[in-house]
Amino acid sequence: MDRKPPTSIDYNLESRLIHGRMKSAHWSYRDHIVPPISSSAAYRLESSARGAEGFREFANPELNDEQTPIYIYDRLDEPSRGMLEENLATAEGGDTCVTFATGMAAISAALGVLLRAGDTLVAHKTIYGCTHSLFTNWFPRLGIRVELTDLKDPANLASILERDPSVMAVYGETPCNPTLELLDLRRIADLVAEVNHTRPSHRRILTVIDNTFATPLGQRPLEHGIDLSVHSLTKGIGGFGTDMGGAVIGPALLEPDLLLYRKDFGGVLSPKAAWPNLVYGLPTLALRVRRQAESALAIARFLEAQPVIRRVLYPGLPSFPQRELARAQMRDPEGKFAPGTMIYLLLDGEPALARERGAQLMDTLAQQALTVTLAVSLGQIRTLIEHPASMTHAVIPPERQLEAGLDPGGIRLSIGLEHPDDIIADLERGLDSIEPALIPVSLEPQLVGA
Ligand SMILES: *Cc1c(COP(=O)(O)O)cnc(C)c1O
Repeated sequence: MDRKPPTSIDYNLESRLIHGRMKSAHWSYRDHIVPPISSSAAYRLESSARGAEGFREFANPELNDEQTPIYIYDRLDEPSRGMLEENLATAEGGDTCVTFATGMAAISAALGVLLRAGDTLVAHKTIYGCTHSLFTNWFPRLGIRVELTDLKDPANLASILERDPSVMAVYGETPCNPTLELLDLRRIADLVAEVNHTRPSHRRILTVIDNTFATPLGQRPLEHGIDLSVHSLTKGIGGFGTDMGGAVIGPALLEPDLLLYRKDFGGVLSPKAAWPNLVYGLPTLALRVRRQAESALAIARFLEAQPVIRRVLYPGLPSFPQRELARAQMRDPEGKFAPGTMIYLLLDGEPALARERGAQLMDTLAQQALTVTLAVSLGQIRTLIEHPASMTHAVIPPERQLEAGLDPGGIRLSIGLEHPDDIIADLERGLDSIEPALIPVSLEPQLVGA
């Protein structure tokens, strides 16, 4: 039989994230099975002409598609990071990926190349705390206006776009950190496309989605018409909690600007931090996310039946308010529903009581639990829990926290790879430790999944 040899696109994403491209310009794989941790700040150039060629290729990446890159200096390009970028672009279905030192460096870069003084950024109002600080503390100093709105309602976006010609980028997270609200990516992309129709090409609005919570195994924003996807590699993709990193994935058109931004602002991902993502993180992502999501559903069901908990938000629960959108948008690469690895729950009680209960739960878990660790961050092999009202946002008095969009009883759980029965047992002991006097007698347990 005269069969053509396969190319990498003939394989499932899970296999491709283990093996990378069949042929990488960055590394021959002739001898090694595992790619290298490279460690060289500068690179030997055999002639000045080759040096000049290297700089020309850096400014015009389209000039060098398949050949071995000319390495000059780590901050421009280097092998371990280059291979990780190829695999991340594959994972999200983008033309190109540029990585950064942290997720925040990636978000700064994605918006840094899209916005300049006089432009407006429209962002969903519930976003990661440091992203919020970037938008409200730093962007105004650069002359960039930020309009925070509720992007769950497309009418809000439509009316802003209609009245404000200075809008040049739209930004959001879905699921949002920490509330797990979802944004309808297709609706947002379509609305922006409609407005772009009426604008000259240099005034096109671009859309940016932080896909950290879902990971590319749970959702690929570019498939829904979004222009750029950003990630904190520190979370689910890195997966083991050892290193920080960030990534921007998007169209080839933006690659020169992203590389230039990274070269000049300097927030490169160290090859030593790229390597664990390449060798451990991406290759195990599918396995981890699948197992963590299975556990998350069991844990969410358990939590939903607890009298001291008012509300459990998990996209896989039948009670999830945006259940249909979750099912339409959160899909693994094979098309199966992928509700994710994060749970948000609200302890019951008026603000001061809910906050006190959160603190008690955190303290018991911190002192007694093996499988649930009191810590920020998420997406690791370890289950992590945090209570913003008594930790990161404790300075806001309980009665003012609700006003500030922060539920005093809100608790964020990131499910790890421990046995789900052990996680449930640890959570149960934690919930039992909430002082009986604090548990309202009148509350009936909520029906599971009803
Ligand atoms: C953690 C996080 C970031 C920031 O990533 P770092 O790697 O910590 O800089 C951005 N967005 C979301 C949704 C996050 O959870």
